[in-house]
Amino acid sequence: MIVKVLIDNPVKKLNKVYNYLVKEEDLEKIQVGKRVLVNFGNGSGRSTEGIIVKVSSENTSDLKLKYIEEILDTESYIDEYKLKLAKWISRMYFCNVYTALKLMLPDGGEKLKKKDIHGKQITVVTLNKEKDIIEDDIDKKKITSARHIKLLRELEDSIKIPLDDIVNNLGITKAVINKVKENGYIKLIKEDVDDSGLLDVPRTEKLNPTKEQKKVIDSLIDKLNNGKFNISLLYGITGSGKTEVYLQAIEECLRLGKTAIVLVPEISLTAQTKSRFISRFGDVVSVLHSKMTRIEKQTEFKKILDLKSKIVIGPRSALFVPLKNIGLVIIDEEHDSSYISGTTPRYNTKEVASKVAYDNNAILLLGSATPEISTMYKAKSGKIDYYELLSRPKGVVPPEMEIVDMKEEALYNKSSILSSRLKEEIAKNLENKEQTFIFLNRRGFSTYIVCENCGKVLRCPNCDVNLTYHKKRGLLLCHYCSYCETLNSTCPYCKEESLKEIGVGTEKVEQELRETFKDISVLRMDMDTTVKRGSHEKILNRFKNDGIDVLVGTQMIAKGHDIENVTLVGIINADMTGGEDYNSSEKTFSSLLQVSGRAGRGRKKGRVIMQATNLNSYILDSVYNNSYDKFYKKEIEFRKALNYPPFTDLLVIELTSKYQEKVVKESKKIYDIFSENKNELLKVYSPKVPYIGKINNKYRIQMVIKSILNKQVLDLVYENLDKYDKIKDSNVNISVIRNPVKIG
Ligand code: ADP
Ligand code: ZN
Repeated sequence: MIVKVLIDNPVKKLNKVYNYLVKEEDLEKIQVGKRVLVNFGNGSGRSTEGIIVKVSSENTSDLKLKYIEEILDTESYIDEYKLKLAKWISRMYFCNVYTALKLMLPDGGEKLKKKDIHGKQITVVTLNKEKDIIEDDIDKKKITSARHIKLLRELEDSIKIPLDDIVNNLGITKAVINKVKENGYIKLIKEDVDDSGLLDVPRTEKLNPTKEQKKVIDSLIDKLNNGKFNISLLYGITGSGKTEVYLQAIEECLRLGKTAIVLVPEISLTAQTKSRFISRFGDVVSVLHSKMTRIEKQTEFKKILDLKSKIVIGPRSALFVPLKNIGLVIIDEEHDSSYISGTTPRYNTKEVASKVAYDNNAILLLGSATPEISTMYKAKSGKIDYYELLSRPKGVVPPEMEIVDMKEEALYNKSSILSSRLKEEIAKNLENKEQTFIFLNRRGFSTYIVCENCGKVLRCPNCDVNLTYHKKRGLLLCHYCSYCETLNSTCPYCKEESLKEIGVGTEKVEQELRETFKDISVLRMDMDTTVKRGSHEKILNRFKNDGIDVLVGTQMIAKGHDIENVTLVGIINADMTGGEDYNSSEKTFSSLLQVSGRAGRGRKKGRVIMQATNLNSYILDSVYNNSYDKFYKKEIEFRKALNYPPFTDLLVIELTSKYQEKVVKESKKIYDIFSENKNELLKVYSPKVPYIGKINNKYRIQMVIKSILNKQVLDLVYENLDKYDKIKDSNVNISVIRNPVKIG
C-alpha cells in the first residue's frame, strides 16, 4: 500500500504530495484525512507532520520510499469533499492547501504532541502568594519587569487562568511565565477539563409564529423540500423573532433527515443562545467555541462523526465541522466582522458558506437587523432572495432618541466626557433603579500619555502606534504587538516630570461616573476585561443579576443579552467612525443601531442619548430615525461613486520586512509586474505605506487592486504573483488578502 501525504510546510510550492509506505501494524489505521509523522527531505532526520490525502493499493518497487513513522489522529475529520473545499479555499484566499485543511481539524491544526492526544486535563496558572505581598513587592521594586507585573495583576483579578489563554490572549510568553514561577509568585496546576457546557435544559415547544414569521418559515420549508441550492437574506429588526424562524426551519431540515449549521458571532454565543437551541432540539445539538480545549472540541467532533449531532452551533470555524448531509446553513448577525478571518487563511465565511451550501444543495440563510451593505445590494438586485420581519412579537416600541451637541456643551462644561443631559438621565435611572449602558463608539478607544513639556506621546518601540494607558494595571500596552512597560513619572524623551493622560477610555468614563454620582456601581467591558474565557458573559450576568447601575463598554456591549431593566443608552462620540476604510461608516452605523436597540427591551420605554460634535452626519441621522433604509440609500451611492464593494472586489497585496528599503524596492517590483501585465478589468493602484507603517518591527507597504475577481482575473493575478515569486527578495514577506475587513 502506498499513501500520498501532503506535508505541513508554509512554503507555497509545497502544495505537492509525496508517497510513503505503511508499516504492517499501521495498515488498519490508515485513512484519508488523518495526520501522520513522516521524514521529509533528504534524510535530515527531522520528522514533519502531514495529512494523508490518498490511499492506493498499488505496490511499488521504489526502494527509496520511506515508511510513515507514526499515525497521529485516531479519527479522520477530513474526507474527499473537505480536501476539495480546502483546495478551493487555497485558491480563493491565497494560502496553501495545508493551511486551509487546518480549519477542518478540531484543534485548528496545532502541532500534535503524543501526550496531548488522550489527556483530559489542562494547565492553569494561579498566584502563589497573597495579593498584598505581591503589590508590596512591586512597590518595593522587587518586581520591575512590566511583563511580570502584567501577568500578576491579571491573575490578581481572577483566581486562575488557563495557561493557553495567557499565551494566546495576553501575549505573555512561556519564558516569562516560567521566570515568574521560578521567582515563586505563581504556580501551574493541572486541572480536569470543566465540562459545564451543556446543562440539563428543560425542553420547550415551538412558538406559534406571527403572520410575518409564518410567511418566511413556509417559504423556507418549501425551499428545503425542493432541495436546491439557494441564498436568502432575512432582514429583521432586533427582537423581530429571527431566531424562531431559524428554529422552525431547522426543525423541517431535521425532519427531512438533513443536518444544519448555525453560525453566530462568538460574542453572542451565550448560555441564553445555546439554551434556545438545546431546549428545542435536545442532545442532537453540538456547540463549539474558540476557547474550548482540544479535548472538548475532539469530543464534539466525535459526536458529529458518529452522526449523533445533527445541529452544530458555533463561530465561523463551525462551518468546517465533519457534518454530513447538510441541508441548511444559517449565518446570524451576518454583518458581523468576525465572519472575516483576520488570520491566514483570511477567508470570508459568507463566501465559503455559499460554496458549502452550493456543493450540498443546501440553503444559506443570512440574518441581520443591519445587513452588510453588500448583502443588501445582492438582495435588492435580485441575486439572492429576500425576506423581512418588521414588527416585534412582544410589541416592544423603539427607544426615544436624542442628540446632544458637544460643541455647545464644551462652552460651559469643557473637561467632562458626559454631557449634562446624559448625567441628568443617568440620575433619573439611579433613582428609579433602572440600568444604563454607556457605549464608547470606536474600537481601540484609548487613553494615551503625553508629555506636557516636549509634547511627545509615548509610543511603542516596535510599532508605529501610541501606547495605550491602562490605569488599573498601571501599565502602558501596545495593542498591536505584546509590548508593555510600566509608567514612570518622567518623560523618556525630555526627562521632565510632565506626563499627562489624554483621550477618553472606558476607565476614564468609569472614573467620571464615580466622581459624579455617589455610591454608583459601575462595570466595564472592553478588551482588557474580557481576555479570559467566558468573561464577556460573566460581566453581563453580573450586571444583570447584581443590579449594577451602569455598564461602560466598547462595541462589545452592542450585542449579547437582552436585559429588560436597561432603559438608557448613552453613546459617547457617536459621530466618530474610527477609520478611513470604505466600510467604516457601515460598521459605525450598525454598532450604533444595535446598541440603541439595547434600550427598553422590556415593558419600560427606552431612551438613547447620542453625544456628537458633527451633527451633520448621515450615520447619526439614520440612527436617530432608526432607519436602516435611509443609511443604505446614502451609503450605496457613495460606494458606487467611489467604486467600492459591492461594485468591485478589493485585493490587497501586503509586503512586510524588517528592512524598510527592501519593502520599498519590492513594492516597486511587484507594481511594475502588475502594471505591465494587466487587462481592462484589473485596476492596480500604486503601493502605499498604510496608516500603521510598522508593526512588530516589520515595515509594511500595501498595493491595492480593484476588480471583480472572476476566474479570468484571478488567473492573471496568480500569473503575476508567480512572476514576482521568481525575483522576490527572501527578506520580504508577501501576503494577499481578498476583501479585507480593514485596509491600513
Ligand atoms: P431577534 O433574533 O430577531 O432579535 P428573537 O428571536 O430573539 O429576535 O425574538 C425576540 C423575542 O420575541 C424573544 O423573546 C422570543 O422568544 C419572542 N418571540 C419570537 N417569536 C415569537 C412568537 N411567534 N410568539 C411569541 N413570542 C415570540
Ligand atoms: Zn507594538
